[in-house]
Amino acid sequence: MPALTTRPIRELPDELISQIAAGEVVERPASVVRELLDNALDAGARAVTVRLAGGGVRLVTVEDDGTGIDAAQLPIALKRHATSKIASLQDLEQVGSLGFRGEALAAIVSVSELVIYSRTREASSGFSLDGRTGEIKPVARAVGTTVEVKELFFNTPARRQFLKSEATEQAHCLEAVRRQALARPDVQWTVWADGKLLDNWRSLTGPQALQQRCADVLGQVFVDQSIEVANEDLRCSVRGFVGLPAVARSRADHQYTYVNGRFVRDKVVMNALRRAYEDVLHGQKQPSYVLFIQIDPRAVDVNVHPTKVEVRFRDSRMVHQALQRCVEQALSRPRATDLPSDEPLSQTLGVDPTTGATNGEDLPIAAAMPSPNTWRQMDFGAGNRPSPMPYRAFDREGVAPNGQRLGVSELATLWRPQDVESPRIDDVSGVPGRQAATPTDEEPIWPLGRALAQLHGVYLLAQNQQGLIVVDMHAAHERIVYEQLKSQMARGSDAALTQQRLLIPVSFHATAQEIVICAEQGPALAQLGFEITALSAQSLALRAVPAALADGDLVALAREVLTELAEHGAQAVVQRAEHDLLASMACHGAVRANRQLTLPEMNALLRQIEQTDRSDQCNHGRPTWRQVTMKELDRLFLRGQ
Ligand code: ADP
Ligand code: MG
Repeated sequence: MPALTTRPIRELPDELISQIAAGEVVERPASVVRELLDNALDAGARAVTVRLAGGGVRLVTVEDDGTGIDAAQLPIALKRHATSKIASLQDLEQVGSLGFRGEALAAIVSVSELVIYSRTREASSGFSLDGRTGEIKPVARAVGTTVEVKELFFNTPARRQFLKSEATEQAHCLEAVRRQALARPDVQWTVWADGKLLDNWRSLTGPQALQQRCADVLGQVFVDQSIEVANEDLRCSVRGFVGLPAVARSRADHQYTYVNGRFVRDKVVMNALRRAYEDVLHGQKQPSYVLFIQIDPRAVDVNVHPTKVEVRFRDSRMVHQALQRCVEQALSRPRATDLPSDEPLSQTLGVDPTTGATNGEDLPIAAAMPSPNTWRQMDFGAGNRPSPMPYRAFDREGVAPNGQRLGVSELATLWRPQDVESPRIDDVSGVPGRQAATPTDEEPIWPLGRALAQLHGVYLLAQNQQGLIVVDMHAAHERIVYEQLKSQMARGSDAALTQQRLLIPVSFHATAQEIVICAEQGPALAQLGFEITALSAQSLALRAVPAALADGDLVALAREVLTELAEHGAQAVVQRAEHDLLASMACHGAVRANRQLTLPEMNALLRQIEQTDRSDQCNHGRPTWRQVTMKELDRLFLRGQ
């Protein structure tokens, strides 16, 4: 090994220091776009134009109509650690601007050919500064600034090699624009790439601004299939839109979160959202959302990450809780009462009416779920707006005095036959002026309507004001049962599932292990609503089961629970009970496909869907019911064309 020689310690030249810093700040053309957009917004721009060439590697130009930079200050703007945004540590601790480190322009100019053109309101003309030569020249231009960045990494070939294809780099640049455009509906955005106009979003104001901008950037399907969050907590306010499971995606590419206006991908924030979606979105699906968190700037440190996409909250638990709670609440409300009246077909189906193209990634699911945001415009006949509880029938909705909810079949027994007349088929004659089932004083409005029939033992069909409702019977019931089990378990530390004793015990063949488990785990079984005793060396008797599951496949259910107890032990099962175990119990306990339900049973199920939190999707995130409107049916039959 050669002997180490001592080399002198030297201060690095300025240019090299900037190039080293650029390694952190400027990773690819999209980083340039983001930094230049930050600067434009910090300068109060109301209109921003981005031009790209060659995926942003050959050229990125950002033009704004902000305050501009004074000619004398132009050279300072390119210096390292030169900023107009903070002047003291105190400023840093409550920074309100997007930039504050004064390093972006210095970093960019060290790895590209950069020219700034700018004019302030006071100046009689504009000036340009060439970053390479330092030459300043007068130019004609309006108030504002244009920064032109050419040939990124031309002098650092090793870094240029790491760039991906032009198309990929351009996609990243466009994503950088989208992130800012969502946060600033009040700003007009124009994007050109290689001479083609890609995006042009006009400036928006008023209460619908954010919603419209979300539609511009993410598509109308996102807006139709999302719920508004508006939580005015003073310590941590959250507003924006959370996408329903119907607009979940295979990639996490529609997840936009902001802290005090700054786009972040923060661990605390992401984790809170994952938790909030846990119970409605299963499998590999990624939720979509656009959420703005506003907190006291002194309670968050934005100076912890080179590109500022991570932040540090002083009280991260508080932020986590506030965010999780309000998103969970928004997602859990049943949406049957939000059914739209007469939406254009294109909207229900997520189809662009002009091109016929669809804009949802997952159209089959995105289709046909009603828009939660349209209920306000609905007119249900006599100025009747559906409220969450419009059904007088629910005086007997099946909630026992002890709070226990009954299963479908028990609930059905509470309905007298005259509660549900046989359905009327309106307008068989085909004469115009089809008569909708107008609600009268006698007849409550049920958002999911009256049951008509069962289809192949799988789907339940119902007629409501807008047309036909199709329900996946098993999926819907499974969710309802699951929610019932959860709420019974949530009642306290020694909470147990409500039991129902069987009139005739069910005996079944059991393995030796199942019999041992049964003898050892009596208390855990009781907590889960079971009473199982040994009949012989090879058989067990099921004497009581969880009341909410009494409709299901009881032996399979008991076996499942015994297996769980054998695998994980009582402690683990009861801890897991909150989610997985209850969900699989619900699956066994829910009405089987192919079981014939009576009309009162079907109606009872519809009423339960309307009332149960999260009942619009099953435990696996699939929808439990769909609306097919009269308009859609008319189209099918070319009626009125
Ligand atoms: P920072 O944004 O952290 O201050 P930058 O290197 O991005 O650092 O910019 C340096 C300074 O140049 C800013 O503080 C600002 O005063 C000025 N500046 C940069 N871009 C613009 C712009 N588009 N309009 C007005 N001033 C700008
Ligand atoms: Mg900046």
